[in-house]
Amino acid sequence: MTDTSSPRLPDVHAAEPIPQDAWAQVEQLLSTADLFRYTAADQSPVALLEAEFAQTLGAKYAVAVASCSAALFLAMKALDLPRGAKVLIPAFTFAAVPSAVVHADCTPVLVDVAENFRIDLDDFHRKIEGADAVLISHMRGHTSDMDAIAAAAQAKGIPLIEDAAHSLGTTWGGQNIGTIGTVGAFSFQSYKMLNAGEGGILVTDDANVAARAIIMSGAYEHNWAKHGTFDAALKGALQGWQNKLPLYNTRLNNLSATLIRPQLQALPGRVARGRRNHDHVADRLNAQPWFVVPPSLPQEQRAPDSLQFHISEEYRDLTEDFARCCAALGFKIQVFGLAEDNARAFWNWQFLDDVPELPQTKAMLMSACDVRLPTWLDTADCDAIADVILRAGQQVFARAALVAE
Ligand SMILES: *Cc1c(COP(=O)(O)O)cnc(C)c1O
Repeated sequence: MTDTSSPRLPDVHAAEPIPQDAWAQVEQLLSTADLFRYTAADQSPVALLEAEFAQTLGAKYAVAVASCSAALFLAMKALDLPRGAKVLIPAFTFAAVPSAVVHADCTPVLVDVAENFRIDLDDFHRKIEGADAVLISHMRGHTSDMDAIAAAAQAKGIPLIEDAAHSLGTTWGGQNIGTIGTVGAFSFQSYKMLNAGEGGILVTDDANVAARAIIMSGAYEHNWAKHGTFDAALKGALQGWQNKLPLYNTRLNNLSATLIRPQLQALPGRVARGRRNHDHVADRLNAQPWFVVPPSLPQEQRAPDSLQFHISEEYRDLTEDFARCCAALGFKIQVFGLAEDNARAFWNWQFLDDVPELPQTKAMLMSACDVRLPTWLDTADCDAIADVILRAGQQVFARAALVAE
């Protein structure tokens, strides 16, 4: 007999689907074997993706590359940050972000992150004093106070880079995330909003930064001329940098671009469903005394494909029991600070010269639960997930409350 009262749990680690119209285009591309972006004189899928992406975001220029990490690395190189430049990054991000800073010969300075997964502005204002650049990771799509951060960077006269790897479709005060700083970087890795397996793109309105990024991405000789139609400012900058920059060869290929372009059309639907799924599960969790889903900031319209929540203060020492209970009920939850060797726990970034003590961020990570909610889930899927979390809460926390009485 099947139990219809508890729907089967979805596999939340399955990636965003590839739309059918991409399949035919991939087949067409394979029949030509034209996979390198510079084989054709113009209109390569990568160049078309760059034009479409820039237009979607409302940015002047876009440069597609091999990953978001490569885009962040190139952003720092394009901004000409000197060796050893101090780059502020949030202490809650993916290990690839401090790694990109190290790769660019700069020094990451970790800024404390608050209970709501966003930059602690007191610590930020303290640390920007000695900084040469700011790199904000909108980790898991959580947007920090970009008004305060952009104003502080501007007042200090230092560049602002946005790691929007996981924030495509998010807006801040009506403006697309990734277009607030001088450079914004996005990811096409499978667990992000657009799935090409791997890939990344940077956007900027600065012709000089765009020109440097294009050349350093690997536009050798005059291949920059194949980046589509561009304005006089960009063309002048490209000619000016000819032969003067290293070629890091971290380009995107036509196959990836062909997979991404139809998904760009699907983006508004994915954003709407992601927000619906997130808010539905968040509302159910927030209705209980055991869980806290921190709210968005007022200026923020999120485009989430995952949910992060905390265990309420009084039950926090049972976080590990709760995670174990979820797993026993058939649904694994990641607690960033408890998972062994987790790449989002800053104390595991032992490749850094100096891993600071950041008790506030550490405490946040020790109770932050992470659930992937891909945008293809329907409401029944989301309810099945929420049911497990609530049942585990009932079993672990309600029992603890009884014992305490
Ligand atoms: C995924 C991710 C990255 C890395 O993106 P890649 O394309 O895999 O290099 C960087 N920052 C954040 C916040 C991410 O979510």
